[in-house]
Amino acid sequence: MTLTKDIPLDEVNPFESMMSRFDHAAELLDLDRGLYAILRKPERQLIVSIPVKLDDDEIEVFTGYRVHYNTARGPAKGGIRFSPDVTLEEVKALAAWMTWKCAVVNIPFGGAKGGVVCDPRGMSQRELEHVTRRYTAEIMAILGPDTDVPAPDVNTNEQVMAWIMDTYSQHARHTVTPIVTGKPIEMGGSLGRRDATGRGCMLVTLEALRHLGMPVEGARVVVQGFGNVGSTAARLCAQVGMKVIAISDHTTGIYDESGIDLEAARAHVRENKVLEDFRGGDRLSNSDLLELDCEVLIPAAMENQITRQNAPRIQARIICEGANGPTTANADGILEDKGVFVIPDILANAGGVTVSYFEWVQNREGYYWSLERVEKRLKKIMVNSFKDVMGYTETHGVSPRTACYMLAIDRVATVHRLRGLYA
Ligand code: GLU
Repeated sequence: MTLTKDIPLDEVNPFESMMSRFDHAAELLDLDRGLYAILRKPERQLIVSIPVKLDDDEIEVFTGYRVHYNTARGPAKGGIRFSPDVTLEEVKALAAWMTWKCAVVNIPFGGAKGGVVCDPRGMSQRELEHVTRRYTAEIMAILGPDTDVPAPDVNTNEQVMAWIMDTYSQHARHTVTPIVTGKPIEMGGSLGRRDATGRGCMLVTLEALRHLGMPVEGARVVVQGFGNVGSTAARLCAQVGMKVIAISDHTTGIYDESGIDLEAARAHVRENKVLEDFRGGDRLSNSDLLELDCEVLIPAAMENQITRQNAPRIQARIICEGANGPTTANADGILEDKGVFVIPDILANAGGVTVSYFEWVQNREGYYWSLERVEKRLKKIMVNSFKDVMGYTETHGVSPRTACYMLAIDRVATVHRLRGLYA
């Protein structure tokens, strides 16, 4: 799904985008050559073929990936996405981002990501289930509650997690709840997991507004993407007093200066699956939406949306990166020069994996927390992590993005030094 057109070719490789930020932070940290070499490469990359009999009885062979970027701090953790655009380079970047993300919020996981090249929009539930189960079976050798714990990502949801959990459990001959997070509540999911990424975005946006001395009440918010992250972030930002003036999905953007009726938008999407034909405002394109005059822009759709081409025209004062990698490395400097305050993805959207960690802990304890407990602990982690990152920006005189990478790399590198090298 490409939301903005005309992205210069040199900016579309997300792994290179990740790597250029990594290199900059590693240099500032004066990371020694050995660790630098270790942390520049994924630990393990698995490519699998997934033969599935479709509803018309034809067999199609899909391609799937699972990448473990780094597991020094704990089991590999990260979502699985289903999309026709999935590539190994993208999965590698996303797995690296999971590594840095878990380190920024200091939860004891490494980073992983998976993806299947398929278009779920054109598939039946039965076909989706078969793809999910066969993919799980093909990557099973590297999965496990202490090894690699998947979660939802683009186009995957609680039902997909339930199928993964069941497939793994059938092979293990007993029910293994902590094999996956983002499960339905009824089978070991955590209260608060569904809203966690969007809630985390709202929490760090509040912190950023306070940090910049800007009022929360009436702050104009623009949200790109109306999936789980975007729609929740929009709803929760409105709940604390901000005004959501524009939303979008891959079909259209909607603009209403006086504030979008988010309940009506959600009801429309529940019924029609997409925002198209929603009448609650003027229509605009995703590229125009990104350039709207507002206090807060939340790109919560896909990678590579803010590039060096449109970055000069961004008018937001704060960008809260709900998606993974929505800003290319080439756009970073342009935004910094313009004084845009960027809350980087590996901090902004870390609420999801944080509550995934809570889910995994609850599964292992066999004791389930109240929603209040989940939300209170999520808030504490998001607010403290925001403060840790701000501390780094001040001590080292760097942008929040560089501060996040420095903090994360430092935490991962410290564990590598302590563990030493197995020879
Ligand atoms: N897919 C989400 C992310 O990119 C959640 C990952 C997880 O909970 O493991 O952060």
